[in-house]
Amino acid sequence: MRKPLLLILLVLLMALFFIFDLGDWFTLNALKQQQTHIATMRTESPWLMAGGFFVLYVLLAALSLPGAAIMTLAAGAFFGLWQGLVLVSFASSIGATLAFLVSRFLLRGQVQHRFGDRLKAIDKGINRDGAFYLFTLRLVPVFPFFIINLLMGLTTLPIRTFYWVSQLGMLPGTLVYVNAGTQLAAINSVSGILSPTLLASFALLGVFPLLARAVLRLVQRRKVYRGFNKPAHFDCNLIVIGAGAAGLVSAYIAVAVKAKVTLIESGNMGGDCLNTGCVPSKALLRSAKLAHQMRHAAHYGLTSTTPEFSFKYVMQRVQQVINKIAPHDSVERYTKLGVNVLQGHGKLVDPWTVEVTLSNGDVQRLTARSIIIATGASAAVPPLPGLDKVDYLTSDTLWQAMAERAAPPARLLILGGGPIGCELAQAFARLGSSVTLVQRNARLMPKEDLEVSEWVKQALVADGVRVLTDCDTTQLAPTSQGIRLEVNQVQANQVQINQVQVNQGDTSLTIEADTLLLALGRRARLQGFGLTELGITIDRTVTTNEYLETLYPNIYAAGDVAGPYQFTHTAAHMAWYASVNALFGQFKRFKVDYSIVPWCTFVDPEVARVGLNEQEAAAQHIDYEVTRFNLSELDRAITDGSDQGFIKVLTPPGKDRILGVTIVGEHAGDLLAEYVLAIKHGLGLNKILGTMHVYPTLAEANKYAAGEWKRAHAPLRTLAWLSRYHRWRRG
Ligand SMILES: Cc1cc2nc3c(=O)[nH]c(=O)nc-3n(C[C@H](O)[C@H](O)[C@H](O)COP(=O)(O)OP(=O)(O)OC[C@H]3O[C@@H](n4cnc5c(N)ncnc54)[C@H](O)[C@@H]3O)c2cc1C
Repeated sequence: MRKPLLLILLVLLMALFFIFDLGDWFTLNALKQQQTHIATMRTESPWLMAGGFFVLYVLLAALSLPGAAIMTLAAGAFFGLWQGLVLVSFASSIGATLAFLVSRFLLRGQVQHRFGDRLKAIDKGINRDGAFYLFTLRLVPVFPFFIINLLMGLTTLPIRTFYWVSQLGMLPGTLVYVNAGTQLAAINSVSGILSPTLLASFALLGVFPLLARAVLRLVQRRKVYRGFNKPAHFDCNLIVIGAGAAGLVSAYIAVAVKAKVTLIESGNMGGDCLNTGCVPSKALLRSAKLAHQMRHAAHYGLTSTTPEFSFKYVMQRVQQVINKIAPHDSVERYTKLGVNVLQGHGKLVDPWTVEVTLSNGDVQRLTARSIIIATGASAAVPPLPGLDKVDYLTSDTLWQAMAERAAPPARLLILGGGPIGCELAQAFARLGSSVTLVQRNARLMPKEDLEVSEWVKQALVADGVRVLTDCDTTQLAPTSQGIRLEVNQVQANQVQINQVQVNQGDTSLTIEADTLLLALGRRARLQGFGLTELGITIDRTVTTNEYLETLYPNIYAAGDVAGPYQFTHTAAHMAWYASVNALFGQFKRFKVDYSIVPWCTFVDPEVARVGLNEQEAAAQHIDYEVTRFNLSELDRAITDGSDQGFIKVLTPPGKDRILGVTIVGEHAGDLLAEYVLAIKHGLGLNKILGTMHVYPTLAEANKYAAGEWKRAHAPLRTLAWLSRYHRWRRG
């Protein structure tokens, strides 16, 4: 209610100004004509005149009305240089701040609502550099001040900052105008007051803070290198430590642009993804899926059978798959590409030197202008009570341990209900293990929406996995047959009494197993290669700026070691930024862009996502509507017997812009690609709907989801008219 009232008042005041041609009073001629009259009034009541002038100036500026320049000249003419300067400086700043507040109060909410997360980048820039921008705009009057007041009101710039920067930035210009006002008779035009030289000086003054900041940054960058001797010549342009996804892609890009690159790897080429991560896990999941399908062959009209298999062969196949992909990441391939590959442990000695302890024990030192740290992450092993007394596996050790076994673990206990824990729980359950999955959180894969967590849980339970959520490990202990885990199960036994959730106390559970697998997240590899010695800041990961630079601007970090995402494709994505900035940063640096990050968890049915899900949209107060298409409606999913799952698309209410997509279903990770492309290139659901998709494919589901959206946004009024038209045509 207050907004409309304020709006009406403002419109009324502005209307009065123009209806009564009050602008005519704020011209140079009018001022000159009234000069003697006003001067007399000022001599008679100096305080009243000063107060009246002040209020009038504030009003003009607050209402964004023309006349401020004439008023500033008048200040000089009637109050002299110093009193005039004080009056105008405060009145203009207060008036501008009022205009800023009016704009913020009346318009910011609407702008926020309309442009939502697209404003984020502007707000981020304003938070970081808003004061500098405003100062420059005030000094160099390229845009009228009233526009600046109104536009700044739409940003997140703090009011106090706006006020003092405005006052400071407008001061030189005010001084010039008030001073000119003291010689009013000599002025013929307002525009002539600021000579080109004066304007150029203001422009210089305006960019000065920005220049000063750039110089300061340069000095600070230089400061970190104090105490080190920069080599006069470098052995290579780039040294990359770690040959996982991030390291390999960095080296590949660097050598492709003809840089001299050394790639150092202490373990297996290909890093975690190839050797202990994505590749073996997906290979195992494939065998497990076949076993599952054999068990449920009746579903396809065949005879269901208990799969007979040698676990050894299954694990051999996993190794064969790794071997088949390994040449893509091999020393031979990269050497052929022109990369100098060293197999050994790399350690930073100074900002340009890496010491390599080669596999044969030799030690070599190499220098490079830039270095990329791509040392990845390893399985997290938190200090659980009793863990030091029991044997356990992690995703790092699992594959070797399983390759040596004749059978899958009879009773497998997995701690951790994130993507890795869920994938491995399903794989082993389908291969015959009795699997218990213990999760501390209230649900599995808690980053996904609640319904997705439920889908995953139901899928695992259907495969025979015992899923325990809300469980805190209290003790681990060895037994003659393996291990015993004691957990406190919280909340699960909450009951509803008079509509209030009441915790009836924790339940203690004991789980016995022969094999324990920890899937409790992954920790960046930060130790043992000179980061701390060089003072490079680390938290849970190596600290980098948006350009992936560490404390030393010539040392970059990419992949799991830098986070925030831990995927092979994000590691490769970061590698592009790290290597391009490392080699060409002196010309142009690129900020790493995480605005569109897709991912997939390869449980069956798969769970894939890009952009926002419902819980994230709600947490960020972003309005959305949901369009859903169930795969049970899709011909190809039905023919394949995989009609479980859905596509859920989030769009701003009434708008054809995709905020995020979650897909649960067979090949969800592949289906997602169309949405990733659409979001990246600003294509809406109308465009997907208007694109031909092959029949019968799973990909058609994307088109049908778009169709659901279209149906929900059908132009009802037009359709009603069309209906009338057709009735008329029928006669
Ligand atoms: C079980 C599992 C399943 C996964 N599934 C998927 C999936 O389906 N999709 C997906 O996108 N991601 C998946 N991931 C994650 C993916 O494996 C990682 O995000 C990816 O490997 C990160 O690549 P990176 O280059 O940052 O690190 P890494 O692959 O870990 O490579 C780092 C390399 O650096 C080497 N190194 C470390 N220190 C030194 C040193 N001082 N000197 C020399 N060399 C050094 C290491 O030996 C290692 O080879 C999975 C991970 C696991 C564990």
